[in-house]
Amino acid sequence: MDTNTAGVEQTANTGQLPGWDAVDEQVLEAYRRNRESTDGVVADYIPILGAVDPELFGVSVAEVDGGVHVAGDADVEFSIQSISKAFVYALVAEEFGHDEVGERVGVNNTGLPFNSVIAVELNGGHPMNPMVNAGAIATTALMPGATAAEKWEHIRSGLSAFAGRQLQMDGVVYGSEAETNQRNQAIARLLQSYGRIDGDPLEMVDVYTRQCALLVSARDLAVMGATLADGGVNPVTGNRVISADVCRDTLSVLASTGLYERSGEWLFDIGLPGKSGVAGGIVTVAPGKGAIGTFSPRLDSAGNSVRGQRATAYLSRALGLNIFASGVHGSIDGNKQGSTP
Ligand code: GLN
Repeated sequence: MDTNTAGVEQTANTGQLPGWDAVDEQVLEAYRRNRESTDGVVADYIPILGAVDPELFGVSVAEVDGGVHVAGDADVEFSIQSISKAFVYALVAEEFGHDEVGERVGVNNTGLPFNSVIAVELNGGHPMNPMVNAGAIATTALMPGATAAEKWEHIRSGLSAFAGRQLQMDGVVYGSEAETNQRNQAIARLLQSYGRIDGDPLEMVDVYTRQCALLVSARDLAVMGATLADGGVNPVTGNRVISADVCRDTLSVLASTGLYERSGEWLFDIGLPGKSGVAGGIVTVAPGKGAIGTFSPRLDSAGNSVRGQRATAYLSRALGLNIFASGVHGSIDGNKQGSTP
């Protein structure tokens, strides 16, 4: 992946963010250094997504103390799309617990695109993980609620609790996807044939399509992610949304599957759990510290926002977020050598 981070030194992960002004400056720098890029293409397999202004670009970081930094178009709303999968999974894991949801939906990467039918076939009908469409539709079907309408209401209010404000569905995005989502309908029918989905499969696809059409901003994504970084408490509202155990489980699923078949490259370059969506959003979580929300509609071939990945790669380095980047114990800047034996 071209992270546009040549010359940016990896700061060691010290367990803390630098001070407010330093984070503010780096958020602005992540925006500035990637603003001009026009790499990638806007998704248009959901027709209405093709109508977005491709120049929009927003970056936000929310800290676990509730402070939020923003640069660029961080308050412009767009549909959450696949990023909803991470938060719906967390809500379902809260209900069912580690073992059951782990067994029913799975936690392993398929290595195949998010809308793969072959992945379901290759794995004997097991959805494999909740971040691809098959697993996400099966997860949505596990949401509490006797009817599709009740499940949808639980999803909307649950994701709103993560964001700390009432999220609205974009009816036009929903309509555009509902008319063209025959592939997701086929995946749900296939899961049904393997006994891997509860309830009416087409109704569950409809709820899933609604959840994907919820409107968020880069700022919202940062706050939603910061809730996962903060042991399940929304740092802005102070309300507990999920348990700390479910945060841990959700972030481990994101680490291996959040960027689809690019998840390995993402972990290699950025070293943090993240989740992308085809409208151009990415949320990335630094456990115990905070989260990054980005929005930029042009995508790479796997469906991940190009400028969002680059801004996140920059911040991971500059803010010392990469969970694999240690320094030498006791050294001042964490980068000095130890003594040679
Ligand atoms: N709603 C989209 C779909 O099901 C979400 C995909 C995505 O964001 N990768 O195709």
